[in-house]
Amino acid sequence: MRKIQMVDLQSQYQKIKDTVDASIQEVLNTSAYINGPYVHEFQADLEKYLGVKHVIPCANGTDALQIAMMGLGLEPGDEVITADFTFAATVEVIGLLKLTPVLVDVEPDTFNIDIEALKKAITPKTKAIVPVHLFGQCANMEAVLEVAEAHNLFVIEDNAQAIGADYTFTDGTKKKAGTMGNVGTTSFFPSKNLGCYGDGGAIFTNDDELAHTLRGMVNHGMYKRYYHDVVGVNSRLDSIQAAVLKAKLPLLDSYCDARRKAAEYYSNAFANNPNIITPTISDFTTHVFHQYTLKITNGKRDELHQHLLDNGIPNAIYYPVPLHAQKAYQDDRYNEADFTVTNQLIDEVISLPMHTELDEEQLAFITKTINDFI
Ligand SMILES: *Cc1c(COP(=O)(O)O)cnc(C)c1O
Repeated sequence: MRKIQMVDLQSQYQKIKDTVDASIQEVLNTSAYINGPYVHEFQADLEKYLGVKHVIPCANGTDALQIAMMGLGLEPGDEVITADFTFAATVEVIGLLKLTPVLVDVEPDTFNIDIEALKKAITPKTKAIVPVHLFGQCANMEAVLEVAEAHNLFVIEDNAQAIGADYTFTDGTKKKAGTMGNVGTTSFFPSKNLGCYGDGGAIFTNDDELAHTLRGMVNHGMYKRYYHDVVGVNSRLDSIQAAVLKAKLPLLDSYCDARRKAAEYYSNAFANNPNIITPTISDFTTHVFHQYTLKITNGKRDELHQHLLDNGIPNAIYYPVPLHAQKAYQDDRYNEADFTVTNQLIDEVISLPMHTELDEEQLAFITKTINDFI
């Protein structure tokens, strides 16, 4: 059996080596390392794929969130509501910009922002909501957008984990994850569903004026060389990363399918195990399985974690501490009673190997090892 990895980037690379190597070589041949043709080509390809008017490439997914918030003109003291159960980048940039993060609980089955908790957290100071499409499926965007409209709030979708997922509104309209709010952001970190070979990120919007602001902000606020109209940052996607991404984007849907197939194998294998809850997929979204995350309900999650490691099966706890309890983000404003779901999830969740290169022999071994133990 091939060695099982949490994410197998090497096997994936070997299958596209010729195309990717040729693209990277072309960048080297032209030496257009920053803002070269591949950056613009990838941007246009991604706009088409997502059905969104503007893609603004940038250096990583964390910058994308920060620049999106800067572009919307959020100011110190403005409250920004986001989920308590996510990667820290989401709340980090809120803090860096001296905005006030307001963390709320998530749904126990989808791990995405809880709409009732969101509504309860709104105050006159609330300016924006950041739904995170965690592990690869969309948050309840129809409800989020309704709440935002009723309270005149911006919606910033953190789509680092769900690029390629499709959302269907009750009227039948379909949209890609990340293109439903005022602005969406993503990450091309190597292990993300559309990953480059270094750091990368992008911001999406259908708003022409906002897109113009953001394009300046990623490049020192410059629209004309050495004329700085707004305070910006240095956050560009470099040409080598864009070349890799342009080569990989046409494969994204097949990558999502490969992940779904592995997820289906897992879920079928655990269907009759009374101590395991497999992922629930909301009917308004597809799931692109950035992570495949189980809940272990018999209190043996930590033992399973170790048992799998002992058997050569990598696995991870995403996330071991809810954001409201992280040292950096603790605040007297928070009340433990408001976080019953995240406080329980951290004891139950375990993420299994998930990538595009898992084969049946590996999946059979992983699922048997788990079912035998639990
Ligand atoms: C990965 C990730 C980010 C940050 O992306 P980077 O490119 O690593 O900066 C932000 N939010 C979520 C939910 C993520 O998973």
